[in-house]
Amino acid sequence: MILRMSSLFVRTLRDDPADAEVPSHRLLVRAGYIRRTAPGIYTWLPLGLRVYRKIEAIVREEMDAIGAQELQFPALLPREPYEATDRWTEYGDTLFRLQDRKGADYLLGPTHEELFTLVVKDLYSSYKDLPVWLYQIQTKYRDEARPRAGLMRGREFVMKDSYSFDIDDAGLQRSYEAHRAAYIRIFDRLGFDYVIVEATSGAMGGSRSEEFLARLDVGEDTFVVSPGGYAANVEAVTTPVPDPVPFDDVPAAHAEDTPDTPTIATLVDHLNTAFPREDRPWQASDTLKNVLMVLHHPDGTTEPLAIGLPGDREVDAKRLHAQLEPAEVEPMTDEQLAKFPALVKGYIGPAHDGRTVLGEESESGIRYLVDPRVVEGTRWVTGANVAGKHVLDLVYGRDFVADGTIEAAEVRAGDPSPDGSGPMEIARGVEMGHVFQLGRKYAEALGLQVLDENGKLVTVTMGSYGVGVSRAVAVTAEYNHDESGLRWPRAVAPADVHVVAAGKDAEILAAAERAVEEMSALGLDVLFDDRTGKVSPGVKFKDAELIGVPTIVVVGKGVATGVAEIKDRVTGEREEVALGDLAARVRAVVDA
Ligand code: ATP
Ligand code: MG
Repeated sequence: MILRMSSLFVRTLRDDPADAEVPSHRLLVRAGYIRRTAPGIYTWLPLGLRVYRKIEAIVREEMDAIGAQELQFPALLPREPYEATDRWTEYGDTLFRLQDRKGADYLLGPTHEELFTLVVKDLYSSYKDLPVWLYQIQTKYRDEARPRAGLMRGREFVMKDSYSFDIDDAGLQRSYEAHRAAYIRIFDRLGFDYVIVEATSGAMGGSRSEEFLARLDVGEDTFVVSPGGYAANVEAVTTPVPDPVPFDDVPAAHAEDTPDTPTIATLVDHLNTAFPREDRPWQASDTLKNVLMVLHHPDGTTEPLAIGLPGDREVDAKRLHAQLEPAEVEPMTDEQLAKFPALVKGYIGPAHDGRTVLGEESESGIRYLVDPRVVEGTRWVTGANVAGKHVLDLVYGRDFVADGTIEAAEVRAGDPSPDGSGPMEIARGVEMGHVFQLGRKYAEALGLQVLDENGKLVTVTMGSYGVGVSRAVAVTAEYNHDESGLRWPRAVAPADVHVVAAGKDAEILAAAERAVEEMSALGLDVLFDDRTGKVSPGVKFKDAELIGVPTIVVVGKGVATGVAEIKDRVTGEREEVALGDLAARVRAVVDA
């Protein structure tokens, strides 16, 4: 096949698009692969579509190879199935909702658990029909709060989503493993540097879940790894819970004046000057910081929440959100705080002096959750609920209790891994795939039951498995570029070879044309820069580097002596080849 630059629907750009934050976005736009249509919504141009389809084909091959069957649902879906699982509401602002001319509610599918569950319910009724694995490669819609980085986080994007249906837990386990193994093959074939990490199951419900994260600093996900092999999304990291500590010797809690201590650091300095400890200096982790939030539930209601955590740690917004979703969380404003007279800004503590200030049963009535490190017997310095005063020796389990614990504190490099496999390292990545054991949540909500061996109706157990196919185009570009442009791996490149006719002589153009015809006859996909007129060889070389086909052939001045040059886009290595051998040599290079 021959794509001629003289007529190909492409225009390369010399300048970076103003809104591009990451190299893949910048280069895919500049090299003429995609165009922005609206925020987070992109058009595939011919070159982009070719890469996209190759990546899609890899995903499809590996799904077919495990015996999953492809079908395709509409993207425009009725409200009712999503109402039955509560996701019509729970998805909040992320769901694109619309109405037809009769006023009936519809949505643009963000993910399709409901529809797959219903189609299996529609057609299957016996344990003999199971297991069954179904998938689609389909456009999804999510009104993301922050679409970014081009294809990386779109509001319209393509996902491969599969669903497994089993009669029992052992079956689900096998289905999960098969999908996990297929994902390993997909991301190996794409050449990604990825880690498989434990994940939270979030709004999806269900139990076991892992993410495939492509290691990239531009990623929005943070994950941890330990030397002993623990790997988790930071959202899923659990804090090892310390043993309770004896507190018989701890004096009664006492409030002290702590003037001019607006920050934890100033408070610690003051404590070390005014109330020095005998065993060691005070440190930030001796203080208990109480942070006030407001939860916005999908049904429109709001709820205040207080979180107590050691003063040396910040609240991690993503960890907090993962714990509380589908609710959205915001810091409590001063105005909202003023509605709780028991709370004194800057000096908020759970209890002191016979008063209980935080907790469902307290003066404020605000639900109070603490970091898992706050265990029985731990003693804290915290606000005394009086301006200018903190309370010392406030003991958990003696002087105050919480309504529960929450994993909201930041995870730091060097923190112990929850499975005891050593200190954790922290890195960033892009979520490329997600495998979930959903269990029976959707089957129960939508009544998917089949008859078992004894003729008894049982609820089916499900798994759900996603790959970001359009995102994979961006991630491939992210891994494969340099300052001059893209450098596609052969498996996904828009063409096998990019032939540049470098010069205006009829002889050069004729020689290039011949070579291109021969290459095409050998089954190669050729991108042929046959442009004449004002397009100089320099411009053609720049475009070839930018477009990033892995093999570049230059047919130029060498024609006079019967040679052309083959250049490797990645290594920059050049090879001179006789024109008569050119097509065969390129075929060999491509097959190598
Ligand atoms: P994220 O945490 O990145 O928002 P998610 O956990 O909401 O993703 P899933 O529901 O697990 O995403 O979707 C399966 C896969 O679809 C993800 O692993 C990711 O590769 C891809 N994906 C999700 N959201 C987007 C998006 N907005 N744009 C492009 N790809 C996406
Ligand atoms: Mg996910």
